[in-house]
Order: sequence, then structure tokens, then C-alpha cells
Amino acid sequence: MNTNPQADFGVIIPAAGFGSRMGAQQPKQFLSLAGMPILVHTLRVFLDHPLLSVLVVVLPPDQLQFGQDVLRPYLSSEKLLFTTGGPTRQDSVYNGLQTLPATVARLLVHDGARPLVSAAIIDRCLAGIEQHGAVIAAVPVKDTLKEVADNLISRTIDRAQLWQAQTPQGMQRELLEQAYKQASSFCGTDEASLLQHAGIPVAVVMGSEENIKITRPADLRIAAGLLRQKEEIMRIGQGFDAHRLVAGRKLILGGVELPYHLGLAGHSDADVLTHALMDALLGALGEGDIGRHFPDTDEQYLGADSLKLLELVMDLVKARKMRIINADITLICQQPKLAPHIPAMQTNLNAVCGAEQINIKATTTERMGYTGRGEGISAQAVVLLRTIC
Ligand code: MG
Repeated sequence: MNTNPQADFGVIIPAAGFGSRMGAQQPKQFLSLAGMPILVHTLRVFLDHPLLSVLVVVLPPDQLQFGQDVLRPYLSSEKLLFTTGGPTRQDSVYNGLQTLPATVARLLVHDGARPLVSAAIIDRCLAGIEQHGAVIAAVPVKDTLKEVADNLISRTIDRAQLWQAQTPQGMQRELLEQAYKQASSFCGTDEASLLQHAGIPVAVVMGSEENIKITRPADLRIAAGLLRQKEEIMRIGQGFDAHRLVAGRKLILGGVELPYHLGLAGHSDADVLTHALMDALLGALGEGDIGRHFPDTDEQYLGADSLKLLELVMDLVKARKMRIINADITLICQQPKLAPHIPAMQTNLNAVCGAEQINIKATTTERMGYTGRGEGISAQAVVLLRTIC
């Protein structure tokens, strides 16, 4: 059994139902929500998750080509696979299970028509799988429940122990395979009931009131309202810095000390690369510049390790619930040769920033200008930040 909480996971999205309660002429997962098919919203949440290894979408047999044609303009990922479903959800998930590569040891099953699932719910399910083997996302029942016969209330049900099942429903793969072997003629409405039928305990983790399933036309309007609130924000920032090369100083770029007879002058360690990145981040946040946050008149920053200052800037990024999508940094330097040291610089910056992609490149200025004459080194950076949904 896989016990690594950082391990990859696979996802099966059963989207083979027609959704007759929507009263539409096409399967509900292809109806438009905020300008995109419902299913695209759902798939994007999983495709954006850093631990996803593969995602299998199960479509109606007669809609396989149509579905792929509808989704392709929005999504291109090698992680995305398609297969066709059967008459019941249980059949469809089974087909999805057969399509998952054998290397996938833990998986989530999620309704195609629940587009408001979040990374936080996915993470709770993954942690729950590690702890319990099988879990579902669920929320406690809020409303008082009545049992009704012939339009008359026959009893009020104690809701204290009642939860509403949602998806994702997650499990170690071997447990679901075992449940299918033992299912025989049993047909459950969700994976939890199939697992329970096989005597496998299933735990609950907190889902979300917003993780609604789009079943009726009103749900589409509610989901559109919730999506507008969550609309992601992107912020771009650029930074520039230059420091003079002098004798008797270390040359530190991206936290890497380079062998050279000159180093950069400055109040801190004068890591011009890291400073340009910090200024780009502060710019994207609308938080002024390095000078405002770490003034060179402040003794506590004398000789400071700029990677430590970058950590403080990243704290501001995280406090805004944002993360770096990518950063691109150019070092402008005639001497020494920087290329051999760039991978180590990238490793240092990635360790602090956790960015999907930090690109560092170096150029000379063909011996023109102050960098060309070897009087100093400068750096330019651009970053793109995005809100964490
Ligand atoms: Mg500087």
C-alpha cells in the first residue's frame, strides 16, 4: 500500500450520464457555465493539481468524438485520457479503472457535473486516503429532515449523524478493485456504497457547501454566481537591479557563490539576480520595491543573505493567497561565464519560491556599456502570479 502523502494520484471522471433533469438537448456536462462547458471547469481543477498523474474522462459511447471535440479547444494535456461509459455509473467507473495505467496506486472518482471542487478538497481526500484507505468528501446535513408519506410527515429524522455525500470519493486502487470483484449483482449509487458492500470501511472528509452538483437549471445559475466570486486574479511584475563589481567582495548570484576575483558591492550580499526577482514580485503585489521593505540604512540587512529576504517576500505572496506561475530572469554580465552555475541558481530559487517554472538566462552586451566593460552586473526579471483557488 502506498504510504507517501506526496505520491501521485489518478482521477476518474464519470461523465456518461445524460442529465435528463436539466431538460437540455445535450448531456449536461457540455452545457455552458461562465462561457465554458461545465466539464472543462471540473477537469481544470484536477489538471492544475501538482500531484495529478492521469485523468480519465468517461463519456457516453455515442458522444466520445463529440466530447473530445468540445473539450480540446480548452484543454491540452498528456495527462488526459478518454474512454466510454456503460449503462450505470458503476459500469462507467469500472471502464475508467481499466483505462488507468497500472502505476496509479490511489485514485479519486469525481462527478463531471461538480465544477466547484477545489484543490483544498482534493488535498483533504488525498490525506484521508493515506489515513483510512477509502474516503469521500461530504458535508453535515443542515436542514431538518422529514419522512413524508401521502403528503403527511410521518416522522422527523435526527440529523446529528447525517452527512450529504459529495465527490471526490477516493481510495487505494486495490480497495476499489476488490470491491468490484465482490460486487456480483450489487449496484451502488456511488463508490462508497460499493466499497461498503465489500465490507471496506469508508471515512468522510469535509467537502464544501460550494461543491454542488449541477442537476437542475437553477444549479447552473448558482454555480455561475459562485464562479464569479472565485474568479482568479493574475498579476504581472517586472524588476531591474544593477550592482558594481569591486575587489574584496564575494560574487553571489541566486544564492550561488561564483569563483571570480571581483564581487558585487552592496549593503546586503548584493545578489543582483535575487534582487531583480524580489522587485518583480513586489511589483506584481503592488508593494513598492526592495528599498521600501529592506532599506539599506537598516543595520539588520548588512551582509544579509538575499535568499532569506526572498523568503520574506514570498511570505507576502502567500499572505495574498497567490503563487508564482512562472518567472523569467535575465542576467547581463560580460565576465565571468555564468552558464555552468545557472542550474544551481535555479535550484536555490525554486526551493524558496516553489514556482512551476523559474527560467534564468545570461547574456553579455558585446562589451558595450557598463556591464560590457565589466564594471558591474545587472539583472531583469518578470513574474506572473495567480490566486490560489
Ligand atoms: Mg540590489
